[in-house]
Amino acid sequence: MQNIDNYDFTNKKVIVRVDFNVPLNNNFEITDDTRIRAAIPTIQKIRESGGAVILMSHLGRPKEGPEEKFSLKHLITDLSEKLDTDVQFADDCIGNQTTEKAANLKPGEVLLLENLRFYKEETKGDEAFAKKLAEIADVYMNDAFGTAHRAHASTAIIAKFFPVNKMFGYVMSNELKSINKVLKEGEKPFTAVLGGAKVSGKIEIINHLLDKVDNLIIGGGMMFTFIKAMGGNVGNSLVEDDLIDTAKKAMKKAEKLGVNFYIPSDTVAADKFDNDAEKQLCQAGEIPDGWMGLDIGPETIHTFKQVIENSATILWNGPMGVFEMENFENGTIEIAKAIAGSTSKGAYSLVGGGDSVAAVNKYNIKVSYVSTGGGAMLELIEGKTLPGVAAIEK
Ligand code: AMP
Repeated sequence: MQNIDNYDFTNKKVIVRVDFNVPLNNNFEITDDTRIRAAIPTIQKIRESGGAVILMSHLGRPKEGPEEKFSLKHLITDLSEKLDTDVQFADDCIGNQTTEKAANLKPGEVLLLENLRFYKEETKGDEAFAKKLAEIADVYMNDAFGTAHRAHASTAIIAKFFPVNKMFGYVMSNELKSINKVLKEGEKPFTAVLGGAKVSGKIEIINHLLDKVDNLIIGGGMMFTFIKAMGGNVGNSLVEDDLIDTAKKAMKKAEKLGVNFYIPSDTVAADKFDNDAEKQLCQAGEIPDGWMGLDIGPETIHTFKQVIENSATILWNGPMGVFEMENFENGTIEIAKAIAGSTSKGAYSLVGGGDSVAAVNKYNIKVSYVSTGGGAMLELIEGKTLPGVAAIEK
C-alpha cells in the first residue's frame, strides 16, 4: 500500500485533514499548540517532496455558520512561522474562490481552509459537501487522529473520491502503530492500568482488554463499584449501583481467562470532596459511613508497583485518584513514576485518554508513547474500527 514515505508527491495537490482544534484565548491567541506542532512533519514532508498542501480542519463547535471566534484565520501567523513559509488562507472551505486558490497553488505552497464545521454538512457526513472538498485536490491524506472515530465528510466520506490516492499522515500512522504495538504485538506480561471516574465509560474497554492482558489494574473512582460488588463497604464513594452486576461479570471473566485482576486493598478516604477535607487511611472495603475514597493507599501502591515493574507492555488510561487535588494525587504520581521506571528498563508503555495524558504532562514523566486522541484511542482499545481508518484502508 502506498504511504506518505513512498508516494511521489511531485506536482500533486494534497488535501490533508488535520486536527487544528486548538484552544484560543479571548484575544484569539493559541494557548496550547501541541496539535499544530504534531502536524508539521506531515506538511513538511509533502512540501519537500514537491507537493502543494491544502489544510482542512475543524475548530470548536460553531452552531450556525461562521463565527469569528472559531475562525481558523487565527492560526495563520503561528502556522506560517512553524512552516517557515507564508501560509495562504481561503475564508470558505468550499466555493469558487477556494477552488481558484487551490488551482493556483504551486509545489511547496500551503493553503489553509476556513473551519469545516461552518457547514453542518461536515459533521453530517454529507457526500456532496465531501465531493466539493475532494475536487480541489489530487490526493487525500488523513492526519487527524482525534476525529478518526467520527464518520464526518472530511474524515471519512471524502475518501471515496480518492479510490487510490489516499493515505495516512504521520500523526495517524504513529498513533495506529503504537496502539497496534500494544494490542496486537504487545510483549508479555501485558498490564492495563485503568482509572478515572466511572465504570460506565470503560466497561467495553475492560471487556475487550480482558481477552488480551495478563494483569488488569483498577484504580480511581471506578474501583468502588468493584469493591461494592465484592461485598465491601464503600461509604459515600463514587459507586454505580446499576453496574454492580456488570462488575461481577467482568471479575468472573477475568478468573475464567486467568487474568490477574487487581482491585485496591486500601484507600485514602475523606469526609468531603475537597482538598482540605479530613483524611484517613482505611481498607478499601471498610470505609466508614459518610466518608469517601479519593485515592489509593500505600499498600495498594506497593502491590500495583510490583506488577508494573514486572510488565513488558503497559497501557494506562485514567488517574488513580482525584489527582487534581494535591492531597489525593499521590497514588497517580506513584503509578506514573512506576510506569516511567518500567519504561526506562525496556517496557513499552502507552498512555492515552484526557486525564492520564494531563497527569503525564503534570508530573513530567517519560513513557513510550502518549496518544493525542482521547475518544479515538478509547474506541480502538474497545476493539472498534474507526471510520477514518477504515476509509483509508478500504
Ligand atoms: P475519566 O474522565 O473517567 O478518566 O475520569 C477522570 C476523573 O476521575 C478525574 O477528574 C478524577 O478526579 C476522577 N477520579 C479519580 N478517582 C476518583 C475517586 N476516587 N472519586 C471521585 N473521582 C475520582
